[in-house]
Amino acid sequence: MIFTKKRTYKQHDNEKDSFYKYSAKKLPDQNKITESFSTDICIIGAGLTGISSALHLANNGLKITILEANKVGAGASGRNGGQLGIGMRKDQFFLEKKFGFERAKFFWNIGLEAVQTVTNLIKKYQIDCALTQGIMHVGNTKKDYKYFLEEMNHMEKKYDYSNYEYFDYKNIKDEVASARYYSGILSKDSYHLNPLKLTYGLAEVCIENNIKIFENSPVDKIVDKHSEVHIHTNNYIIKSKKIIVACNGYLDDLLGSTRDFFMPINNYIIATEPIGKTLAKQLIKRNCGVIDSRFMIDYYRFSEDYRLLFGGPETITSKFVKDAKNFVAKRMHKVFPEIKRYKIEFSWGGTLAISVNRLPILGYLMSQKLIYSHAYSGHGLAMSVMAGKLISEKILDKSNRFDMFNQIKHLKIPGGNILRRPIYSSAIIYYRAIDFLNRL
Ligand SMILES: Cc1cc2nc3c(=O)[nH]c(=O)nc-3n(C[C@H](O)[C@H](O)[C@H](O)COP(=O)(O)OP(=O)(O)OC[C@H]3O[C@@H](n4cnc5c(N)ncnc54)[C@H](O)[C@@H]3O)c2cc1C
Repeated sequence: MIFTKKRTYKQHDNEKDSFYKYSAKKLPDQNKITESFSTDICIIGAGLTGISSALHLANNGLKITILEANKVGAGASGRNGGQLGIGMRKDQFFLEKKFGFERAKFFWNIGLEAVQTVTNLIKKYQIDCALTQGIMHVGNTKKDYKYFLEEMNHMEKKYDYSNYEYFDYKNIKDEVASARYYSGILSKDSYHLNPLKLTYGLAEVCIENNIKIFENSPVDKIVDKHSEVHIHTNNYIIKSKKIIVACNGYLDDLLGSTRDFFMPINNYIIATEPIGKTLAKQLIKRNCGVIDSRFMIDYYRFSEDYRLLFGGPETITSKFVKDAKNFVAKRMHKVFPEIKRYKIEFSWGGTLAISVNRLPILGYLMSQKLIYSHAYSGHGLAMSVMAGKLISEKILDKSNRFDMFNQIKHLKIPGGNILRRPIYSSAIIYYRAIDFLNRL
């Protein structure tokens, strides 16, 4: 089996504008590959999936190498909204219907463990990444309260889980001071944080543990040589016993038709100038992250220096929108009109991968010598780190939890290579219309 990467759409390169790059202490540049060599585990992609896989495999006598096309954290891991939420991207009602209660409960527990794994790593390695408690899901329509209450009730009864707090029409405005919301539910086991600081912090731990990270080393060919895999980058060959492909939305055709099971989409974030703690507290009383209830969600939070970081709109063309700043600002100003007087100092975007059922795709190729994990569907900050843990358990033969994900049947994105984007575009327009109608 041979994979050759033929096509790539240009990766986003307006990163110089990201608040995260401005706020994080730069990670020293890592070497580029300059020779061929052998390794035990070769990881493609230095985002959180790749770095977490390396970290969880470290100290087991394995030689571990990470190859990154760009820089550490250059993908979604260093650009995302920083919302570290529990659960899967889909709720337990969906999971129970699809898989039955026992498997749904397994996925719920993994979602809880994912967040705990991240917070434990932050504590263990004392990573200063502005970890802050709480995510509030706010209801944009008058009907949302029913769903929130039903979910809380269900989680308490069936899962013995009660770490949610409900806010009705009267008191949600004290919590999130926007005229747009009718109700809310606070997840106290969720957090928000600066994702690039987290990614750099974990990469530093990898380096301290003798894991070699090579930057500017894009992989363009992977060849199964039966007893090992040959990985081609910059005209050199890395021979490895196992390979982990952790490229998520930036995978392109590196693994052939594997990418037919997810849609890469671009999502955008802006950051205002600092607005001060007092106003920030007036707008979001508990300084939690906020996510709204629409299909095309708004998500936002305050940074460690009290900028409003606001994200949400997405596009599915391979190119990024030119004026991302105004594209997002329109939505932000509808939520908090008083923010209009503050300058928007940063705007950036990134690519993520969405699967049809919104569940992550974990699998193998090349007689299990090649392992991949991607398509966290916008809920990957915790799940990418957890996926690294599951991959390590699989490789070290410690559990079958990776296989519980591998057994999920994923559908191809309809439309093939040509119609995929138009079909998905139409779906986005349809759901935007539903969001609009729901507000009437
Ligand atoms: C704008 C935005 C906002 C988001 N907000 C949230 C959020 O608030 N909460 C949440 O839970 N999730 C969020 N997500 C999703 C989350 O960021 C991702 O699911 C997660 O970071 C994926 O991590 P990863 O390591 O798998 O992929 P990435 O971080 O994308 O890393 C993949 C890496 O692979 C490298 N690569 C690709 N091809 C090659 C190659 N051929 N050779 C070598 N290297 C290669 C890339 O350069 C990249 O560095 C968001 C995503 C985006 C884009």
